[in-house]
Amino acid sequence: MNDTAADYSWPTCMACGHELWVSEAGRQACRPCEDKTVKRLAELPSLFRQLNTTASLMRGARKVGAATSGSRVPPIPPRLEVLSLVAAGGVATRLRDIEDSWRAALGWTVAPWRGSPAEAVPEHTRFLINNLPWAADAYDSIDQDIDDIRRLHVECDAALTGERRPGRVNVGLCPVADESGKACGNQLTASAGSPRIQCGTCGTEWSDMAAWRDLRRAQEAANETGAAA
Ligand SMILES: [Zn+2]
Ligand SMILES: [Zn+2]
Repeated sequence: MNDTAADYSWPTCMACGHELWVSEAGRQACRPCEDKTVKRLAELPSLFRQLNTTASLMRGARKVGAATSGSRVPPIPPRLEVLSLVAAGGVATRLRDIEDSWRAALGWTVAPWRGSPAEAVPEHTRFLINNLPWAADAYDSIDQDIDDIRRLHVECDAALTGERRPGRVNVGLCPVADESGKACGNQLTASAGSPRIQCGTCGTEWSDMAAWRDLRRAQEAANETGAAA
């Protein structure tokens, strides 16, 4: 009987659970996990650039002139999963949170200014790739970060697959209310080539993707009011 040998468990990778090689002893994550994470990080800026376009917001949207189904107001195409990835709180924020936790563990200044999400994503990924060798070796929460990077990559990839550029599409009814509180109700359209939506009836304009989100919220609010009336 050798109790010592029975109790001893060989060190494993925190991220995938595989036993570490002798040459990996003392590491938090194995080299294959590190290599996969570098590859995912390197692909994220390009995935983000493709997602951060009007066309990807409108993929799968109903084309102008297509018959609408029974519902009074057609679904509004701006895809929330795409918006939630490209806007603040999305890819850039999730990468920043990882960068900040590594910086804190290293005793470095946290939250350096990285600009807009489009500017920040390549900066964050560069930082994370440069410092991944340290994190895989010594950072004890690396398993969570490897998993979050993997999920981010899957979400971006999934949001990019689907129909290609639909041309001009219906984007719901104009929710802008007049003095009496009645919604304009004109059919709004948008084209894949431009983020600008303008109502042909009341002239209201939504000029960028942040405005699209406001538009969608206003349409939902108008819808609820309409349904209750
Ligand atoms: Zn591993
Ligand atoms: Zn209008």
